[in-house]
Amino acid sequence: MTTVSNAEYRGVWVFIEQVAGEPAPVSWELLGAGRQLADALGVELAGVLLGQGVAGLVSEAWAYGADRVYLVEDPVLGPYRTAPYARALVELVQRYRPEILLLGATSLGRDLSGAVATALGTGLTADCTGLNIDPATRLLEQTRPVFGGNVMATILCQRHRPQMATVRPRVMPLPPRQEGRQGELVRVGIALKEEEALATVLKVIEEKGKAIYLDRAEIIVAGGRGLGSRENLRLLEELAGVLGGTLGASRAAVEAGWLPPEYQVGQTGITVRPKVYFAIGISGAIQHLVGMQNSEVIVAINKDPEAPIFKVATYGIIGDFQEVVPALTEEFRRQ
Ligand code: FAD
Repeated sequence: MTTVSNAEYRGVWVFIEQVAGEPAPVSWELLGAGRQLADALGVELAGVLLGQGVAGLVSEAWAYGADRVYLVEDPVLGPYRTAPYARALVELVQRYRPEILLLGATSLGRDLSGAVATALGTGLTADCTGLNIDPATRLLEQTRPVFGGNVMATILCQRHRPQMATVRPRVMPLPPRQEGRQGELVRVGIALKEEEALATVLKVIEEKGKAIYLDRAEIIVAGGRGLGSRENLRLLEELAGVLGGTLGASRAAVEAGWLPPEYQVGQTGITVRPKVYFAIGISGAIQHLVGMQNSEVIVAINKDPEAPIFKVATYGIIGDFQEVVPALTEEFRRQ
């Protein structure tokens, strides 16, 4: 067996996640983060695209900053399955040797990254909320919450390559899309066999109506313990309906059973970055703030003028939400 030294690994890679040709926005966010790492290291930034009939996404990856895209198209890579995707990604890494490989901390990215890191015998930091590079050592500083979110740990992968991390959606800003930006395309053939896929997709059942994509929402109307009851959510639903927004919740509102856990914003919930975030009856605990403080505009409605949420709010309204929210809904409806 030949041993490859760490110095032979060069470049930053981002896995471009897609399902049925629909790209996951976190891929573009990671290209933005990857650009900074690549520039600091003086290396190229590449995207890795696996699938069938997905070549149309190559120009998107260039537009979001990839210098090069490695594309593997194969019918076996049509619907996502762990074994063939991991096999293709492992083989690409072994052939081209990137020093850093980033994936979105989505359910697909979490599944794939574990299989790939295991096969490569390298480390993986899952669910990162921050990345930084030390150009002198070329070590990726990977920050993530640990011990139930009570401590932020910075993790280094000193011995093995590539340094692998999954990063939560919406933690990194979306880089500007540079229309017409051209990069290089490397089509790679990998011998994949259907019988080695280990699983067969019989049918894809789309979740109708129920699926919420809080991390992609442009307007979020979030409620907290201050709502007092599940019935009062109706006022927030009306506001969200008029604005075309999505509901969100603090952990207290989720623990009260008013909304399901997938609506929870914060350190142990989802990180969001909408254009407008309404925080209604939410005090602004640090664990909530870390999940929403990067929103473009924050409107806080709280009857306590001392509530910490007002420190991050763009617009603060001191008052009872039962009076303020219907008035806002009415005003937006008229406009
Ligand atoms: P409260 O703090 O009770 O605030 C309710 C607010 O409503 C108050 O400010 C009050 O003035 C206001 N209010 C009351 N009545 C009205 C009214 N009629 N009109 C207007 N305002 C009114 N929390 C999260 O949200 N997300 C997380 O991911 C998360 N992760 C956590 C992880 C760990 C490890 C720990 C320890 C905690 C975590 N928490 C998280 C919990 C967090 O610390 C807070 O307890 C929680 O965010 C409080 O929710 P809240 O703001 O809805 O409730």
